[in-house]
Amino acid sequence: ISIGRKKYVIANWKMNQNLQETLSFFQKIQDEDGVEVVICPPAPLLLPAHTQIMQEGKKLSLGAQNVHQEEKGAYTGEIAANLVKEFGCQYTLIGHSERRQYFQEDDQTISLKVKRALQEGLTPVVCIGETLEQKHQAQTEKVLTSQILLALEGVNPADVIFAYEPVWAIGTGESASPEEAQKMHHYIRAVLSHIDKKSAEQIAILYGGSVNETNAKEYALMPDIDGVLVGGASLKVDAFQKIITVFA
Ligand code: PGA
Repeated sequence: ISIGRKKYVIANWKMNQNLQETLSFFQKIQDEDGVEVVICPPAPLLLPAHTQIMQEGKKLSLGAQNVHQEEKGAYTGEIAANLVKEFGCQYTLIGHSERRQYFQEDDQTISLKVKRALQEGLTPVVCIGETLEQKHQAQTEKVLTSQILLALEGVNPADVIFAYEPVWAIGTGESASPEEAQKMHHYIRAVLSHIDKKSAEQIAILYGGSVNETNAKEYALMPDIDGVLVGGASLKVDAFQKIITVFA
């Protein structure tokens, strides 16, 4: 287990859960000491979730799944970072592979979003990872390096959280082995230490991709894995609670 760094368990609900399911989730879920638990529901559920967390008095945090890079303006359908902040978010995912793949988000846009999030007082959780094709072509390290460097352009690395999510492991049930993930996390930390040695030791690097209540504890044992970003298994309270307990 990693020493001295804060632990995170982050739920990415993607485009799932309705209002009733959200309220019942926040009624049942329990906070635990020693781990920062962040739920990222769809944006319209942020305010009801925030209200519910306050009512229950639980130590749970909220994150957005995405924010727009501009402060405000004529961007129909988009969501401003300062708005999600107002609705109770402390975090936002940035550059999730589904955003990169289906919404053409490139590293340049992601870099602007990271800056916007920081300006509005949100902690960006920057998602990086290689596709299956890139993995087969032995380009993983090259891809990760460029994703990291572009995302961090002009920002203090210590203000950012990274999530290593190999694209081939997301929603496939085919997770990276804990050893494989550890190797990549170690590599990511080495890249970060070229930018700032001290920050690199403090930055949280989370693993994501088919994490569930059974495999979570193997990731928790790895020295460079500081938590997990969970999709599918975060929709069920019982499964998600077990994952929280592993990192608590
Ligand atoms: P998964 O999704 O846990 O369902 O693989 C992870 C993610 O996309 O963040």
